[in-house]
Amino acid sequence: MAIFELPQLYREVKAEAQAVAQEVAPFAAEADECSEIHAPTLAILRSSRLCEFMVPSAYGGRFERVDPLAVCVAREACMKASAHLDALLALQGIGSYAIALGGSETLRRSWLPRVASGESIAALALTEPEAGSDLKAITTTLRPRGGGDGFVLSGRKSFISNGPVADFFTTLVREPASEHGAEDRYSVVLVPADSPGVQLSPSPEIIAPHVLGEVEFVDVTVAADHRLGAPGRGFAQVLATLSVFRASVAGAAVGLMEGALEIATRHAVERHQFGRPLARLGAVSNLLADSWGDLESSRLLAYRAADMARRDPAATLDYSSLAKVAATEAAGRVVDRCVQVMGRWGLIKGSRIEQYYRQARPMRIYEGASEVLRLGIANRLCHDVVEGGGADWAK
Ligand SMILES: Cc1cc2nc3c(=O)[nH]c(=O)nc-3n(C[C@H](O)[C@H](O)[C@H](O)COP(=O)(O)OP(=O)(O)OC[C@H]3O[C@@H](n4cnc5c(N)ncnc54)[C@H](O)[C@@H]3O)c2cc1C
Repeated sequence: MAIFELPQLYREVKAEAQAVAQEVAPFAAEADECSEIHAPTLAILRSSRLCEFMVPSAYGGRFERVDPLAVCVAREACMKASAHLDALLALQGIGSYAIALGGSETLRRSWLPRVASGESIAALALTEPEAGSDLKAITTTLRPRGGGDGFVLSGRKSFISNGPVADFFTTLVREPASEHGAEDRYSVVLVPADSPGVQLSPSPEIIAPHVLGEVEFVDVTVAADHRLGAPGRGFAQVLATLSVFRASVAGAAVGLMEGALEIATRHAVERHQFGRPLARLGAVSNLLADSWGDLESSRLLAYRAADMARRDPAATLDYSSLAKVAATEAAGRVVDRCVQVMGRWGLIKGSRIEQYYRQARPMRIYEGASEVLRLGIANRLCHDVVEGGGADWAK
């Protein structure tokens, strides 16, 4: 096996996702302009077995544990064809992982097989109107229910992917200090979307349409066993989710770069100016060559980070962050160059290249904005070099 070649298992995962992506491709341009569910895309996802990658095999999934490298390559193939397909697939894992990790056996059995088949749609609700990067500032509150078991949940979550259509929300909450001790603690609870008091409204439209919603919890009753994991372990659950899924954002960015670069390269070969193909004009060659470099270096880092997360997700979150920042920032550069290569043809509204251009932008913000991730990455570097016996590359 070549050192930098994907093992056969993952080539098969990628081929499987590519086949599904091909089915979606004919109407991907339409799906990617939807901020509501695009029914044909969801139907194809459900009839495929891709959602099985998002759940452990004991509950209907494909691998014993969710495999970050499989998720990464599946997202690469999906994002290349359709951002809508990619988001639907990714959220099945991102929204359900805390159930697999901290849910009771009853909760796992009741939700995860439906996530694996695509029947139930998952969502992860962290962000609030006043709390984005600074999640410790959340105000959504979980309190014991007076005169009965369980809890009462109140607060508002914002910009939640799948918000309007989710069957459940895996929700980060604050439990006030007065209820149990000296300090507030953070927990994660599972809230079925049909619980009385869950109110949904659309989020603002964004430049690259996405199924987003505002979710308000108005004194929602939450059963005692719907708290996922031990009380106060909310951030541990969130970080565990990100450890597994953040590298897959890098995979999606790689897919987007592949799609954009193929379009721009074809254009540069076919269109002639000054008596030769654009691709033979030095400045245009530079744009193409630099983009290919960005794409391939991002791919290597994405696969490496995902493979590391496969072995030990908790210990390798900084690598996943590094891959996410590198690949999404590279995707921003690549789509910009690709539009430039295509001249006015790169600007046509609704064209595939223009869609890629818009779709690259939110990737640098969601699942950890680049600036915030760089703080953790730089901390890790300083620690490893100065206190930890040297950076990884020296070992
Ligand atoms: C398409 C899309 C889908 C989303 N889906 C979900 C979802 O499913 N669930 C969910 O919970 N949320 C979701 N979000 C919200 C997303 O997680 C937040 O947008 C993200 O965490 C950033 O928060 P913010 O937008 O409030 O920006 P802010 O936190 O206000 O940050 C604004 C700017 O300040 C910078 N910044 C902030 N803090 C620091 C710091 N300490 N040091 C340096 N720079 C800093 C940021 O990098 C950014 O550039 C989604 C967002 C988008 C766009």
